[in-house]
Amino acid sequence: MTGIQELLLSRIRDVADYPEPGVMFKDITPLLADPAAFTALTDALAEIVVSTAATKIVGLEARGFILGAPVAVRAGVGFIPVRKAGKLPGATLSQAYDLEYGSAEIEVHAEDLAAGDRVLIVDDVLATGGTAEASIRLIRRAGADVAGLAVLMELGFLGGRARLEPALSGAPLESLLTV
Ligand code: AMP
Repeated sequence: MTGIQELLLSRIRDVADYPEPGVMFKDITPLLADPAAFTALTDALAEIVVSTAATKIVGLEARGFILGAPVAVRAGVGFIPVRKAGKLPGATLSQAYDLEYGSAEIEVHAEDLAAGDRVLIVDDVLATGGTAEASIRLIRRAGADVAGLAVLMELGFLGGRARLEPALSGAPLESLLTV
């Protein structure tokens, strides 16, 4: 493990049985509160913007906003929020997806993405991959290309990477930490 990975890992707090029994929640608020760690994370993600030749960042609500926005500024690319349904005021594209119990829906402003855009999706944690898979669909339906998916932490035991491989069709999945 590199020094930066050790720093990032040391600033992520494990919260058992949150928000429900059996879930080990990865709380990134200590990392956000530490300027050295947050800067190191922003720099590492900005390098992925360069390596994937991305021209836009899509951040996934809500922690993907906190991480994605400073990376967009650092890398000099636009930031586009993918939100839970009903939060965006303009004309949207929507994508429904299944959860363990029930379903969810995410949306993006249709005018924010177009053919020729290369989008890097940013989020804090990759778990089952359901949210990321739906966002990939949304971005493609808007006519844009997916340059890659970048997450701070991948929960390897949930199999999100294998699930996303077909959807990513060769675009890289970069996780700074895997547990
Ligand atoms: P999934 O769609 O299952 O990959 O879940 C990913 C989304 O849920 C991300 O936006 C994460 O922020 C959040 N999430 C899922 N599991 C966790 C966890 N154990 N700790 C923190 N966030 C999580």
